Amino acid sequence: MFDQISKSVYFLVSRSFDSNITFIKSDDHHILVDTGTGLYASALDRELHDVGSSLSSITDIVLTHSHIDHIGGVIPILEACSPKIHLHRAEAEPINKGDMSNTLGDTFGADLPPLKIENILDEGSVLDFGGVKMSVFHTPGHSEGSIVLEIENTGILLTGDTLFPGGSFGRVDFPTGNPAKLVESLKRVSEMEFDVGLPGHMNAMKYNAKKSALTSYQIAKQMFRL
Ligand SMILES: [Zn+2]
Ligand SMILES: [Zn+2]
Repeated sequence: MFDQISKSVYFLVSRSFDSNITFIKSDDHHILVDTGTGLYASALDRELHDVGSSLSSITDIVLTHSHIDHIGGVIPILEACSPKIHLHRAEAEPINKGDMSNTLGDTFGADLPPLKIENILDEGSVLDFGGVKMSVFHTPGHSEGSIVLEIENTGILLTGDTLFPGGSFGRVDFPTGNPAKLVESLKRVSEMEFDVGLPGHMNAMKYNAKKSALTSYQIAKQMFRL
């Protein structure tokens, strides 16, 4: 069930191997941030109905990065409608050339068809969805194209697989993972202003989110001896 975080932001904690999914409703945009593996698309459709949307109403999909547990759900949505897909340049450009290797689809036995990423994101990109604006922060480390998204005027930060609660953070042992970059990105996130953190896995950081970010940064720094 989607948990309502603010007037227009809803958060779904994942089933099994899926990423968490955030749904954002603005005037004329229905946005998903990350989509899960796609294995539970019909359940997602039902849960979107409960918050006044559906798979076929999605206008935009923003991916915090392109691992299969975040991008896989794009496929069933593309069968239902034609949303615009937004992804950081470092991962969008290979995908647009037909190289799906960074999604890890092969590793996990998921056969992803070629995709077209229409909106290529960079550090500082601003996504304007009418009533809702999001700013893009490039936070490599878990993967080269990982981003954190700030939803303007809400105090909500979508932290992808960069920052998890409880002093945790994304792994760095997949292709393009980089411990030094992750530590740098966690430092940056810990210095940002936000009240609520919505991660790619595990539960929402609703209280002491900034403190949680600082703890993750300190633990990562220690773990990787940086
Ligand atoms: Zn993930
Ligand atoms: Zn990931």
